[in-house]
Amino acid sequence: MADLIIMDGRCPEENINAVIDKIKSLGFDVSLSRGSEKIIVGIIGDTRGLSEETFVSLPGVIDVISILKDYKLVTREFHPVDTRICAGSAIIDGKHFVIAAGPCSVESHEQMLKTAILVRDCGGKILRGGAYKPRTSPYSFVGLGKEGLAILRDVKMETGLPVITEVLAPEEVEIVGEVADILQIGARNMYNYRLLERVGRVSLPVMLKRGFQATISEFLSCAEYILKGGNNQVILCERGIRTFDSQFVRNCLDLSAVPVLKKESHLPVFVDPSHGTGKRDLVIPMSRAAVAAGADGLMVEVHPRPDVALSDGFQSLTFDLFEKLVKEIAPFVQIMGRTIQD
Ligand code: PEP
Ligand code: MN
Repeated sequence: MADLIIMDGRCPEENINAVIDKIKSLGFDVSLSRGSEKIIVGIIGDTRGLSEETFVSLPGVIDVISILKDYKLVTREFHPVDTRICAGSAIIDGKHFVIAAGPCSVESHEQMLKTAILVRDCGGKILRGGAYKPRTSPYSFVGLGKEGLAILRDVKMETGLPVITEVLAPEEVEIVGEVADILQIGARNMYNYRLLERVGRVSLPVMLKRGFQATISEFLSCAEYILKGGNNQVILCERGIRTFDSQFVRNCLDLSAVPVLKKESHLPVFVDPSHGTGKRDLVIPMSRAAVAAGADGLMVEVHPRPDVALSDGFQSLTFDLFEKLVKEIAPFVQIMGRTIQD
């Protein structure tokens, strides 16, 4: 099997073109990563029947490698350089530390505008808020739907903040995509393969949240579905997994997943300490830890009045606590060699 062709970084352009032409003539697509010493040509497609012999003797080829994993496009072997994502004015590139914040659910224009101004003034780069909410009980608030999207669109215009919002079903991708700068796939939908395939065909970044029962390998395999569809603008989000303690924490925020994912994959990694802990008091300490673990950003819930929030009030920060969070993570962000402000 052949997945990666390693070429000498100093070989002439015609050697690289010959390899690319060969791959394309066999019906595959190509991903090219150029380093000074090596050039990595990735073969995109079902490579199971493709022999290494096809490429080993071509000029400039140093090695042919097969990736024996359930996923390959998401791996660092396939794409050694960090993936850079631009969503409106937000840049996720490993140099910045990006904060996405906002309420769990969009409830009103006033609630979203107040929150967006706070988020922006504190250095947050992305506004979150769900218009379509996946709820454990069908009797809970399930979001304002189209009205919520209209509020997000207005607040985005008024503040300039790009928005991230969840999409629950393949048939809603189009309408949510008209407003969203980043489509969110929630933990409950991590295994929704039709939805993953659908967002694989859009030209918007996607944040994929880890399913609460998912291994890291399953998480990466689900991200692979999106990349396989042609969309490589994927952000991975660790948001806690189920373990046995539900008394003190809602989920167990698996921060070890951060360095594992950063090593295994080129995709940016966010941490959601709000759903990850389910407790307002734990959000700031776990945010500091997430920065120190090497995360590229945070997604945090904040609400003007968490006591009357229609969802997840108990884990939402007050405005004061959100300001405190940004102040408290700042030294950690600096130690990690990143910046919050431009
Ligand atoms: C959310 O971000 O509001 C949400 C529902 O998250 P998760 O899918 O991680 O539970
Ligand atoms: Mn929530």
